[in-house]
Amino acid sequence: MSERIALITGGNKGIGFAIVRALCRQLQDRGIVYLTARNEQLGLEAVKTLQGEGLNPQFLRLDLADAKSIEAARDVIREKHGGLDILVNNAAIAYNSSSKEPFSEQAENTVAIDFFGTLNVCEILFPLLRPHARVVNVSSRAGDVGKLTNSALLLRITSDDLSLEELKKTESDFVSAAQRGTHQDVGFPNTAYGMSKIGVTALSALQQRDFDKLGTDIVVNSCCPGWVNTDMSRTTTGKSIDEGADTPVYLALLPPRQETGGDQEPIPRGKFLCERNIVDW
Ligand code: NDP
Repeated sequence: MSERIALITGGNKGIGFAIVRALCRQLQDRGIVYLTARNEQLGLEAVKTLQGEGLNPQFLRLDLADAKSIEAARDVIREKHGGLDILVNNAAIAYNSSSKEPFSEQAENTVAIDFFGTLNVCEILFPLLRPHARVVNVSSRAGDVGKLTNSALLLRITSDDLSLEELKKTESDFVSAAQRGTHQDVGFPNTAYGMSKIGVTALSALQQRDFDKLGTDIVVNSCCPGWVNTDMSRTTTGKSIDEGADTPVYLALLPPRQETGGDQEPIPRGKFLCERNIVDW
């Protein structure tokens, strides 16, 4: 396979940084890895750290909240390489349990970045995906559909014919309900992060169905990295960031479909994985 081009969002720290490191190590001179970050200085510092380890990631600024920055990154990749082979949607935010912001504000901001921002990256970068591209949407076990107490909603979110419009409306409805203070009354969970990640996992399955309709070998999966020591989790007793990167990197490097013969192991497509295993969400 020719040189593979990879782009990781939120690569300046945490699990995203470790995903960039692992992809640089694994692809070596068979690929170019773009570490993207919303803050240019933090991104360039992260690149420098990895250069100190003998690796050579490239930097692009990309803010999930700024469509122009995503389009600018797309234009660079298109002009320099003509396409993209690996996209890891890692960037996200999460309020912690002691946050003072009202729930309505947390819901609006979290869904805007974690769900709609991720979707925006996909919509802008998907036209660049090459035939064997691999997309990894970093989700979370916190996005557990069991938290939806409205059974009709749960059925729709997990349905094989869920449409993108329906999913977008569900996430927007959650934010509106949170603003009215009625989100739990209508069956949404009391977690903005969880509701956003339910959306990311549902989106991944939906995106795979759409690619399958086109007959391509593009594969989209979502995953949970586990409980990892980062600024987001604010823990020091979980996995290292390199351990947290393991499943996302495994999914990013899933082998291409063999076009002729051979007994190829089936690979996950449109699934949610933890520890490299497909699990229910
Ligand atoms: P961190 O908070 O350490 O890192 C998050 C990254 O996302 C940072 O680079 C941050 O940039 C970036 N980011 C946030 N908002 C934006 C934005 N608008 N545009 C671009 N980048 C942005 O988190 P983790 O490394 O822990 O999390 C990585 C992923 O793993 C997330 O999707 C998270 O939900 C998921 N996850 C993490 C778990 C854990 O235990 N840590 C558990 C389950 C899932 P900046 O530095 O500028 O803020």
